[in-house]
Amino acid sequence: MGKVTGFLEFERTDRKYAPVEERLRNYREFVLPLPEGDLKQQAARCMNCGIPYCHTGCPVNNQIPDWNDLVYLDDWKTAAQNLHSTNNFPEFTGRVCPAPCEEACTLNLEDNPVTIKTIECAIVDRAFEQGWVRPEPPVHKTGRRVAVVGSGPAGLACAQQLARAGHEVHVFERHARAGGLLRYGIPDFKLEKHLVERRVAQMEAEGVAFHYFAHIGSNVPARELIDTFDSVVLAGGSEKPRDLPIPGRELAGVHFAMDFLPQQNRRNSDETQHVTPILATDKHVVVIGGGDTGSDCIGTSARQGARSIVQLEILPRPPEKADKLLTWPNWPAKLRTSSSHLEGAQREFSVLTEKFSGENGQVKKLHCVRVDDTMKPIPGSEFALDAELVLLAMGFVHPVKEGMLAELGVALDPRGNVLADTESYRTSVDKVFTAGDMRRGQSLVVWAIREGRQAARAVDEFLMGASALPR
Ligand SMILES: Cc1cc2nc3c(=O)[nH]c(=O)nc-3n(C[C@H](O)[C@H](O)[C@H](O)COP(=O)(O)OP(=O)(O)OC[C@H]3O[C@@H](n4cnc5c(N)ncnc54)[C@H](O)[C@@H]3O)c2cc1C
Ligand code: SF4
Repeated sequence: MGKVTGFLEFERTDRKYAPVEERLRNYREFVLPLPEGDLKQQAARCMNCGIPYCHTGCPVNNQIPDWNDLVYLDDWKTAAQNLHSTNNFPEFTGRVCPAPCEEACTLNLEDNPVTIKTIECAIVDRAFEQGWVRPEPPVHKTGRRVAVVGSGPAGLACAQQLARAGHEVHVFERHARAGGLLRYGIPDFKLEKHLVERRVAQMEAEGVAFHYFAHIGSNVPARELIDTFDSVVLAGGSEKPRDLPIPGRELAGVHFAMDFLPQQNRRNSDETQHVTPILATDKHVVVIGGGDTGSDCIGTSARQGARSIVQLEILPRPPEKADKLLTWPNWPAKLRTSSSHLEGAQREFSVLTEKFSGENGQVKKLHCVRVDDTMKPIPGSEFALDAELVLLAMGFVHPVKEGMLAELGVALDPRGNVLADTESYRTSVDKVFTAGDMRRGQSLVVWAIREGRQAARAVDEFLMGASALPR
């Protein structure tokens, strides 16, 4: 513990955002890093608790008090080594993780958790600036070949771990570029894509081969991978969106969020796309669904110049503050206001959408009713919203079953995800493993990284009989 009285001396200070009018002019990141002096003070607030509750919140088991201490002591290089020992991609989590570690931090009992995520991001950003992050190719090759399907955070983490263990790793991705939802789902204003490219370049230098436009189960038979590799890891994400089958769903202008968001990410990266543009410019936009994806639709619509943006959520408005005695150190239900919400969206809770109506085949209105806490419509509370673009952001139900999963015949769990436990990560098909959203269902980047790392260890054990990769 660097400074014993740090938590008494220094208040929590966190990164600020660039002003709304400035950040809406472009798609660049707008979170302003803390100056070095402030970072060291924030790190000094960590109490190095006897039981570090922050650990209970962190899926990748980051050694948070250790690197807080190292930052306070100005040993950034060792802090970066420590951080990378548990997390392949802290520059992603340092930007987009909802930071369950901060909810679990002991100082959060007083609403003042250590700024763990900000410190994490500062460590890894400095490590790249200083050239401390280099390719780590293996010293010995095993001669074993592994195919990883999907290049989201789970596939990338798995591939990097396996390549470092000496295996010949091939990543198969159906899209033009790597990253999964890091590249095509999460907007640039939360995560600029050169950060993904930088890791892909590191992995290529470590020996990982990336094959793009390789849609397994479609233009590349899944059987081909089984026949030519010693092991196969399925990390294809949970891509089947939840639909809203109400009258008028067929009208033009009603789209899934994941038809809308990737278009803008591709535009920002000058990636060729042959699609009818879906744009919010000058439109009344309604976003249905109150989670991260919905927020990203709001921020993207605002940057495209929407006339108005309303976000609807069927659940009641959560409390402003968590009841700590009931929830800490677990993830609490409380009202979360994202940077996109602050850019000018109207939020409505306890609203059920009943039907869309339109003119000439184009959606014009969304008809809704308010519901009580049991989700029953309240008579007389019906209302209509102007809606020229409706974005459905109600989550994902399970992986796409047609194609690869059907061809392989892997067993699914009752929710429709690929069945595998968290010890072996093995599917019902011999030598086939799975990780990330494809196994656990729609989740978070940090969980995908954890699953990718653990699945890599399981594959390494399967191939070699034992593994030196971290558990
Ligand atoms: C819009 C949006 C915003 C989000 N924001 C956040 C956030 O801010 N913070 C956070 O922690 N989480 C966020 N999430 C969740 C997070 O992105 C996912 O949990 C995470 O990316 C899952 O990683 P994954 O590697 O399992 O799958 P994915 O990232 O979905 O990657 C799967 C990859 O597999 C490829 N693939 C699928 N099938 C095949 C096939 N048959 N052949 C070849 N390739 C295939 C896909 O093209 C894709 O590239 C968000 C999700 C969405 C949709
Ligand atoms: S719970 Fe908070 S104060 Fe305690 S060790 Fe973790 S980060 Fe530091």
